[in-house]
Amino acid sequence: MINKKVKVLNSGFVQLVDLMPSSSNGADLAIVDAARLSYKSSSKGEEQDKKLIFHLMKNNHTSPFEQVEFKFLVRLPSMVMAQWVRHRTGSYSISSGRYTAFTKDDFYIPDDCRCKSDLTTDLLQGGLIETYGRGLAMYEGALENNVPKELARLFLPGFAMYYTMYYKTDAHNLMNFLRQRMAKNAQWEIQQYAKVIYEDFFKPSLPWTAEAFEKFKLKNWPI
Ligand SMILES: Cc1cc2nc3c(=O)[nH]c(=O)nc-3n(C[C@H](O)[C@H](O)[C@H](O)COP(=O)(O)OP(=O)(O)OC[C@H]3O[C@@H](n4cnc5c(N)ncnc54)[C@H](O)[C@@H]3O)c2cc1C
Repeated sequence: MINKKVKVLNSGFVQLVDLMPSSSNGADLAIVDAARLSYKSSSKGEEQDKKLIFHLMKNNHTSPFEQVEFKFLVRLPSMVMAQWVRHRTGSYSISSGRYTAFTKDDFYIPDDCRCKSDLTTDLLQGGLIETYGRGLAMYEGALENNVPKELARLFLPGFAMYYTMYYKTDAHNLMNFLRQRMAKNAQWEIQQYAKVIYEDFFKPSLPWTAEAFEKFKLKNWPI
């Protein structure tokens, strides 16, 4: 599971870089252990342990879930990043357009225009590719003329540019992120990232917690 990487959108991905604790089902047991510390006991067997996780989730005993930590490497368009970093309980480290030059592979192109008119995906994509091409040419021309990267990037479409970031958070706050960003009213693009985090990483790492989360915290799941 560690280092598994899943593609998202045209050029993005989510990769699990680290998980504490890392052993299979050990993460659920870390939550059980943290909760039982109050009573100076630990695991009482699968059935009782799973029941305890459901009790914690149902009654909002949140702190034991903070004992599990996830660290992801994420490549994402800046418009998605702007929404993601509003989650203040995560720790972030983000690539810099001041120090690293953008290339033709760093632009987000949607697969579908989600149009409510006659505009087609082909037209939207065509328009974007043309605009991106012009911006990239201006950007590269500016760099050739020794304009610093921090200013040359003004020629690029800010929302479309891919960045890479580390995102580290605990299971409790990750569930808050997932609940908000897998929901139908979240922007489709961030939903794709949240669903990959949930299905490919969270669920296999914390199967009992995920089951309790779906039962008590996720309305109308699966969506
Ligand atoms: C569909 C959708 C639309 C949105 N639209 C907008 C928008 O139009 N404009 C906009 O500005 N934002 C918007 N947001 C962002 C939203 O308001 C939240 O800022 C963001 O989703 C982070 O949520 P959070 O505070 O629960 O997460 P976190 O920042 O991770 O915080 C988790 C929890 O910790 C607590 N907490 C953290 N920091 C503090 C603090 N400083 N003080 C008190 N409690 C704290 C709160 O209980 C919070 O719920 C939108 C979000 C969604 C999902």
